[in-house]
Amino acid sequence: MRDRKNYGVVYLVGSGPGDPELLTIKAKRLITKADVILYDQLPGKEILAMMPDSAEKIDVGKKAGQHTLSQDKINEVLVKKAKEGRMVVRLKGGDPYVFGRGGEEAAELREEGIHVEVVPGITSAIAAPACAGIPVTHREHASMLTIITGHEDPTKNDTSLDWKLLAQFNGTLVILMGVKMLERNVSELIKYGRNKDTPVAIIEKGTRADQRVTTGTLASIAEIAKQQQIKAPAVTVIGDVVSLYKELKE
Ligand code: SAH
Repeated sequence: MRDRKNYGVVYLVGSGPGDPELLTIKAKRLITKADVILYDQLPGKEILAMMPDSAEKIDVGKKAGQHTLSQDKINEVLVKKAKEGRMVVRLKGGDPYVFGRGGEEAAELREEGIHVEVVPGITSAIAAPACAGIPVTHREHASMLTIITGHEDPTKNDTSLDWKLLAQFNGTLVILMGVKMLERNVSELIKYGRNKDTPVAIIEKGTRADQRVTTGTLASIAEIAKQQQIKAPAVTVIGDVVSLYKELKE
């Protein structure tokens, strides 16, 4: 085995939901010190501008459905750069372990004998609703919170989403990556018995200056989303807590 002493550390850093002031102090320190930074578009311009001129910057460009670098290639680059003894930051939107494939990257690096440190970030699943005036839990409205991915292929046999169970659950349901499959997802919930009048909010570009909030009900939101041309990145919140939106928004 090679001498691991000379390997660089890889930091899997959460960059928060978009507002640069929601970056952690630790994340900022690491971004401004890194030798190599792998990033995509989620962190936003202001955070990307903090990267030092001297750093090698690699855009791995993950947008919905299109990858500039495949996950295998990303892992390969992380391993290579760390083995060169460089300090590597893998910057990820929100929290690196919430639908960020951070777990896979960390496992791959550990297998290669590389030291990995995870720097948690504020996840959009909670922060985007919060900045829109929607608390994901509330003593009178919801004592449970479930966060799911909305882009699972419905034709996939091994889906891990149990829509029947989700429809019966009366806490807050937050869907990430759910714009494309919104219509399918809400119809599954209705099909399995979730009340059609359950309030729904979609927050696009949450916590950023150009954040937009669209509200409706389980029955109406798919049509409204089409009319409003809702685009990713967006968080969908389903549940009674959404009724607090009018009261708590600025
Ligand atoms: N690790 C990230 C999630 C990565 S999956 C986190 O913890 O936030 C990418 C999805 O996150 C997007 O499709 C969208 O659903 C959501 N997302 C990320 N940033 C967002 C933002 N500023 N506003 C709304 N949704 C956001």
